[in-house]
Amino acid sequence: MSETIFSKIIRHELPADVVYEDNEIMAFRDINPQAPVHVLVVPKVEIETVNDIKPEQAELIGKLVLTAQKIAADEGIAEDGYRLVFNCNRHGCQEVFHLHLHLIGGRQLRGISAA
Ligand code: 5GP
Repeated sequence: MSETIFSKIIRHELPADVVYEDNEIMAFRDINPQAPVHVLVVPKVEIETVNDIKPEQAELIGKLVLTAQKIAADEGIAEDGYRLVFNCNRHGCQEVFHLHLHLIGGRQLRGISAA
């Protein structure tokens, strides 16, 4: 895969509003937030899309969800609730081809049936 802007953010070559980082995961605020809280939870390893996740990466994917859970609590939106989204490829409106989990909340979201 060709490198995306997220690889540069992960290497701290481009600025981002980082809210969490460990050796496997970085989470930073979306540059074009769709809600008061909009954080992207990103594995440092380059995985292009959900289609490219390997079975041996299941634990990493679980950590993405648990990291989002922690950030939601830290941001004070856990009780009211939030949405976690992976967009995949064209029909999923994926724009950046480095796997990322959207954490979106901080206001009442609309249903996704017509999204
Ligand atoms: P996708 O549509 O691929 O699921 O979502 C990509 C997200 O990355 C979009 O919500 C977009 O606003 C965000 N994004 C794109 N470029 C940058 C950037 O340079 N920095 C940050 N923080 N977010 C970005």
